[in-house]
Amino acid sequence: MTRPARVRINLPALQHNFNRVNESAPASRVMAIIKANAYGHGLTRIARALPRADAFGVACVNEAITLREAGFDRRIVLLEGPFAADELRLISGYRLDVVLHHREQLAMLERVRLRRPLNVWLKIDTGMHRLGFAPTSVPEMVTRLDTIDYLGELRWMSHLACADDSGDDYTATQIEGFRNTVESLTGERSLANSAAVLAWQDAHYDWVRPGIMLYGASPLRDTTALALDLQPVMTLESTLIAVNTHQKGARVGYGGDWVCPETMPVGVAAIGYGDGYPRHAPAGMPVLINGRRAQLIGRVSMDMVCVDLRGHPGAAVGASVTLWGDGLPVDEVAASAGTIGYELLCSINSRVRCEYIE
Ligand SMILES: *Cc1c(COP(=O)(O)O)cnc(C)c1O
Repeated sequence: MTRPARVRINLPALQHNFNRVNESAPASRVMAIIKANAYGHGLTRIARALPRADAFGVACVNEAITLREAGFDRRIVLLEGPFAADELRLISGYRLDVVLHHREQLAMLERVRLRRPLNVWLKIDTGMHRLGFAPTSVPEMVTRLDTIDYLGELRWMSHLACADDSGDDYTATQIEGFRNTVESLTGERSLANSAAVLAWQDAHYDWVRPGIMLYGASPLRDTTALALDLQPVMTLESTLIAVNTHQKGARVGYGGDWVCPETMPVGVAAIGYGDGYPRHAPAGMPVLINGRRAQLIGRVSMDMVCVDLRGHPGAAVGASVTLWGDGLPVDEVAASAGTIGYELLCSINSRVRCEYIE
């Protein structure tokens, strides 16, 4: 018998969420964002299940090479561009598009000679203040790019800082800044992440870049995935490996900080921070036992968590435990743990067995 901790990856749900992108931004092409092992869902399996994505967005050359070697021919964009000049030959050899966000990267391009045309997405900082060129320096960058004889297609992009809050004017300001900057430039444009796909139509432009919505979590602060008609792709499950009755006053788990308020049944599920479940999750985290809500008690261990089984008389060893996914939105679990769904999904590691539902 293998360890019961497992994720089920629901590929029809992924397809459904991809269709939601098309419905929301029908005039735009789709760069599916599959960095970080497709947000923890498995890079190549997710790529294979997205046959209608026009491009893939990844964070580094290794991720891109994995896709090429798995046979993907589509456009692949390195969202942070090259990290060092010695990557440029690989980038060119594997026909990858690069984002350029910094003068250092432009200097790398100026120093190297490549045989194939290199497609560039110039990143403009419209207010996120993380990566990108100031709008005022764009003309200078264009002039310098013009001198690079192997330059291929040139596109324009920027990233939104607050699009998850549909009432925040900052996004409107960023969209306007982008519009003004790219107005006089030729080439395709891209601005929208998932939140903007769903909530900021003016940001759609030629290419949208959805990540989290593909995986069925909500990109919007005050709207649930259910309300957005997004379906959870990853369900994290395990089983109860022990059910014990403890006396009133018994201390449960490391540190003994959770104390039984009465004599009660306590379950132990085989999942822990060694699998990527958040260790800092406080007591009271929601889980499902045989599909019904229960709460975690005590601290999260490396391989196990404890569950309050009061009100679950049928819960025995072998009962199914859902940590998030079907019936328990990852966004709700994340809120209880003081984090976001993105972090929980990305954290699940290779110790957890992965089953794909076609
Ligand atoms: C990760 C990323 C996205 C996707 O963001 P979501 O919020 O997951 O939709 C889009 N664009 C860039 C540049 C990114 O790095």
